Amino acid sequence: MLLQMSRYHKMKIHIIRGQNQIGGSIIEVRTEATRVVLDVGCELGEDTPVIPQVDGLFQGKPCYHAVFVTHYHGDHIGLLANILSEIPVYMGEKATAIYQTSCNYLGRPVNSNIYPLFSGKKVAVGEIEITPFLCDHSAFDSYMLLLESEGMKILYTGDFRANGRKSFSSLMSRLPLVDILITEGTTLSGKHRTALTEQELEEKAVKLIAKQPNQPVFVFMAATNIDRLVTIYRTAKRTKRIFLQDVYTASIAAAAGKNIPNPEIFSDVRVFLTVPNEKQYTALQRFPKAKIGRAEIAKKQFVMCVRPSMKKYLERLFEEADYSDGLMFYSMWDGYVQNEDVADFLQFMEENGIRISNLHTSGHADEEAFDKLIEQTCPKYILPVHTENAAWFERYTNCNVLYESENTF
Ligand SMILES: [Zn+2]
Ligand SMILES: [Zn+2]
Repeated sequence: MLLQMSRYHKMKIHIIRGQNQIGGSIIEVRTEATRVVLDVGCELGEDTPVIPQVDGLFQGKPCYHAVFVTHYHGDHIGLLANILSEIPVYMGEKATAIYQTSCNYLGRPVNSNIYPLFSGKKVAVGEIEITPFLCDHSAFDSYMLLLESEGMKILYTGDFRANGRKSFSSLMSRLPLVDILITEGTTLSGKHRTALTEQELEEKAVKLIAKQPNQPVFVFMAATNIDRLVTIYRTAKRTKRIFLQDVYTASIAAAAGKNIPNPEIFSDVRVFLTVPNEKQYTALQRFPKAKIGRAEIAKKQFVMCVRPSMKKYLERLFEEADYSDGLMFYSMWDGYVQNEDVADFLQFMEENGIRISNLHTSGHADEEAFDKLIEQTCPKYILPVHTENAAWFERYTNCNVLYESENTF
């Protein structure tokens, strides 16, 4: 899709991938002399990423001047190590630390040509000025991007939500009126309802734990969902438990900064090794005093991060004490239950007497959030991406909704 504002003849938008689908986002914005790319994502569910044949980005001589990454989810960053190494990348400073920590731990290739983005601080690339706006999402340090050239304004939302701990109204008050809004619409294909906030999730968790105050609590969540780590930490604190992080989760939490609960700084966060290998010992060196073994865990009241790869470790832990009648929060998108390893892990926990309780809320905007965003930015055109229901935006009758079929206008 190629989009050109006929009145301006200035910036053009080309959705390389990820318009009428969720994930695999790659968006090009260009002027006569400048070409930038917003996000370089993998398709969701791809085991081995297929690299699109885009000349000057993934192959041939570089012809893009910069790549901007809104956040570190694979469907936005998955191809970052595959772009031509000469092209500079811009991404949030803490998001970069988390991305690099995760790649290093998991043994994945890393792009190291990354420059930091700071909220509100403009970056000039040739004829285009880009201003990042910190937003809330299930990835930490995520940004909306405002692109300006000769008075024309495009806002790309990346993935965002209004139900996190960051103030959505304060973000909205900083956004200008724009000509084109490129927005995600992830939640619009399902049932429309207002998402729980992280605070409401915390209340729900505290109430559930209060029903069985002496039993162990596990939480199955993504280590990179930093907002959720905060929710779980606060829950642990309110229910007088220590928070146990495996070395991977602890490394990601520490990379997110000193305010995020991690065993380097927080005395009530402890770290455990699941496999005694070199990788885990190396990562553990950052938290020398916070290590906790199975025997000591068995004597404590805790909330523990768990994942399918920890099955063997948990088998040994369950030998140390009676963990039946325990509770596990399932704190991820429910679609993952279809994955074999996840289904297998849930069954394993249930077979060991652990009750599973859903504790999740969306990382994406709900209807009310879109209403506020569109009221604030008053776009002439809405270009939905990252959605299976672009037509939903037709309700904003003052705006023109753009579809793939409308190539140029
Ligand atoms: Zn996404
Ligand atoms: Zn995302």
